[in-house]
Amino acid sequence: MTETTGFDAFADVQRLIVVAAHPDDLETICGGAIALLARRGVQIFSVNCTLGDIGTQDRTTTRSALATARRQETEEAAAILGVQQVHCLDRHDGELVADLELRAQIARLYRITQADTLLTFDPFWPGQIHPDHRAAGQAAIDAYMPSKMPLYRPEQLREPGAGLGALQRVFLFSTDREPDVFVDVGSVYETKLAACLAHRSQFPNGLESLEWLQGMDEERGKTLGVARAESFRRMSVW
Ligand SMILES: [Zn+2]
Repeated sequence: MTETTGFDAFADVQRLIVVAAHPDDLETICGGAIALLARRGVQIFSVNCTLGDIGTQDRTTTRSALATARRQETEEAAAILGVQQVHCLDRHDGELVADLELRAQIARLYRITQADTLLTFDPFWPGQIHPDHRAAGQAAIDAYMPSKMPLYRPEQLREPGAGLGALQRVFLFSTDREPDVFVDVGSVYETKLAACLAHRSQFPNGLESLEWLQGMDEERGKTLGVARAESFRRMSVW
């Protein structure tokens, strides 16, 4: 068992990119840590690989209407948390594959944002039941190395502000594979909940829709002896 640590694991982070699959992943899984980092002045870039366009039980709506609504909800949530930029890679929900084009799209964002730290799904956790979560995490990790190589998709390097990928550290979320970073999110929990509730299409019954999430964060809090926490797993990269 590796040694666990707290928010100080993020002490050197200045520019953070979060690669998620769906519009509400970041808010529900790590909204507290994101709010804390934003308050510390970290530049935060969010990437949703899919449009989230099947995320409903309402058969009367359309995929494009849902995608439009979820884009708006994502912008609102980003403003609440202090996320600077939201990128959507426009893939269809439920069909995400870690293919070469997705790798290139993500590598391009590493190069443009010059992020030093990546947060993404743990694709290696056997319990990762959602295929989009697995694919987003896999593609995000797969893009890490090529983004640093000048002969990989060199046209990306000619875009304004772009440079070779600058990522130095990777943290995985949504994992029960020995998480070793536990962040006390009690001081920003109201902000996290507000960001989640901005996703009205997903949580139409307000806080009642988020009882599962609060229970999960309380469970993680027990590791630290605090009310609520979020957990991550450091990935060794060099
Ligand atoms: Zn998701």
